Amino acid sequence: MTDVVVAGGTVVRATGSELADVAVRRGRIEAIGPDLPRDGAEVVDATGLLVLPGAIDVHTHVRLPDRRHPHRFTKDLEAAARGGTTTVLTFNNPGTGISAAGARSPLRGLDEFRERTDGRAPIDYGLCAVLSGNQRRLLDELPELIGRGVPTFMAFMVYDFALAAEHLPRVLRVAAEHRGMLQLHCEDPAIIDPLVAEALARGDVGPRAHASTRPPEAEAAATRLAIELARRAEAPLYIVHLSSEGALDAVAEAKARGEPVFAETCPHYLTFTDALYADPDDAEVMKRVISPPLRSQLDVDALWAGLRDGILDVVGSDHVPDRLDTEKRLPAPPFPEISNGAPGIETLLSVTYSVGVAEGRISVERLVDVLASTPARLFGLPRKGAVEVGRDADLVLWDPEARRTISQADLHHTSDFTPYEGLEVRGAPVHVLSRGAAPEVGRGRFLERRR
Ligand code: MN
Ligand code: MN
Repeated sequence: MTDVVVAGGTVVRATGSELADVAVRRGRIEAIGPDLPRDGAEVVDATGLLVLPGAIDVHTHVRLPDRRHPHRFTKDLEAAARGGTTTVLTFNNPGTGISAAGARSPLRGLDEFRERTDGRAPIDYGLCAVLSGNQRRLLDELPELIGRGVPTFMAFMVYDFALAAEHLPRVLRVAAEHRGMLQLHCEDPAIIDPLVAEALARGDVGPRAHASTRPPEAEAAATRLAIELARRAEAPLYIVHLSSEGALDAVAEAKARGEPVFAETCPHYLTFTDALYADPDDAEVMKRVISPPLRSQLDVDALWAGLRDGILDVVGSDHVPDRLDTEKRLPAPPFPEISNGAPGIETLLSVTYSVGVAEGRISVERLVDVLASTPARLFGLPRKGAVEVGRDADLVLWDPEARRTISQADLHHTSDFTPYEGLEVRGAPVHVLSRGAAPEVGRGRFLERRR
């Protein structure tokens, strides 16, 4: 028998929208259509609301719980659910609190991640393992990692745990052979490092120099190199947090050649420009110390066009639950020491809907595609990402007419700020279902993914 009927809403799919009821049984979507029988089921009135698949946030750096902070992980996933995200994929890079042993081996990193998150999630979640140059048995462990439900993994071309360009071809090759996919942070250290050294040498140590030393050329060059390496390895490639027009052009050219190159951008690159780095208040600049940095209005406009045209495939939050009082540490240290990142797990759907759909830049169907359907397809989650019979009933009832002002005071993530403070948005989640029920700690499952 049916457990829940979501009645009278507008069901949105990537391919079109229709007025329909959605019946849920044992956490799955059982039927979609007009005037479905109630049969004693709980009825959720969705009149005037959109029925969206819960967002899948494929790019987060949620911190692991530890003895001092036992509610980490749980609270950021609760925040995600409140914002309309029902699946979170997260990385286990060193900044998330993974142990040194876990960081040295992808398999040990997976074991540790599962152990430390078991029973703590209110919504379903998965791991995108972080690969680094410090992992001695990396290539040997990759096939088993993929087989154990982690078919996508991230590497960085920058930072002290980077995977140097000479190691990328073999990682790409092993990934391709085992149906895995590399997610790559593309910035070229050969361009960035000398600029950082020059800035420090002339005493330009403030947080604004973070942005000026990471020009869009560094991103474009690294993106082109990565695409070339993937082409030679005949491997799929997923470019994370693409922020600028030059890198976008490289992706567009690869797609035109028919190569399996995919790209993601983030709400902050679609919303803000580098004009924010001119703020005289260091604290405000610190909130935008992220990599890549914010770009120009021309880049923002190019990203929206790329999202409309299918050059960009996914929007992810790049959530880092940094705090100004701890990780970011005011007064600002010299800029290379500032923790990179900003929170966004709770605002992903709100900001992308408002700036994108409500302001007329993309359709609501395209929103569903880039926040749910395409992430499900690329990341090996066939039961997620669409309001379709047989899929998990991860549903967001969305009020398109709501108006709110984003404020830290109303958010639930573990950061002490939001980069969107004061942003007026249209649209809000009214009701969120995770496998047919309200999110609740302990109900969320680790997702063993398969591409
Ligand atoms: Mn990154
Ligand atoms: Mn990131």
